[in-house]
Amino acid sequence: MMDGNVLVLNRLWQAVNICSVQRGVSLLYLGHAQVILEEGGAFSTFGFEDWKDFSKRTATEEDEVVKTVSFKIKIPRIILLLFYDRLPRNEVKFTRKNIFERDGNRCQYCGKKFETKELNLDHVLPKSRGGLTTWKNIVCSCISCNARKGGRTLKEADMRLIKKPRKPKWHPFIIVSFHKVKHESWEHFLDTAYWNVELEENEQ
Ligand SMILES: [Zn+2]
Repeated sequence: MMDGNVLVLNRLWQAVNICSVQRGVSLLYLGHAQVILEEGGAFSTFGFEDWKDFSKRTATEEDEVVKTVSFKIKIPRIILLLFYDRLPRNEVKFTRKNIFERDGNRCQYCGKKFETKELNLDHVLPKSRGGLTTWKNIVCSCISCNARKGGRTLKEADMRLIKKPRKPKWHPFIIVSFHKVKHESWEHFLDTAYWNVELEENEQ
């Protein structure tokens, strides 16, 4: 029984990834990770040997276990990485869809919300003036603002952006996966204040 997933926490007990049971057990075996067990709201950690003993003592028929030639252990559902303390920085792809997402389908000049098909992508500093096609220079613009601005700079057109465009810092992969496969014991780590803070920051 090697199916299912394991939630991976970094040294600061922040959820950073989801891995296969096989990968989780191998990290544990190599001493790169410990198992986290939640019991009645309290968390204990186990190294490989401790987890093996614990499994031996407590495994029942219903428990999912990993069997190898030399050992049989319970499947860990949460592991704690012992060396990794950063959050993975998934690059957000520079796509049309993600620009609309970043700008919340709002024209960045008049601030009104539009259907995707009623919005253009506008170079803030026009291409003809050396403006680049980058996160910082591309914004959503409604057709009328786009026409009003034309090939002029913000200053020349006397227009303003409702917010400064920048590259977003989402973690789309992780957020999507967390919604897909969840174990009850993960809740604590997925609902922590840390995640809320991170998302608010990124949505600015
Ligand atoms: Zn507009």
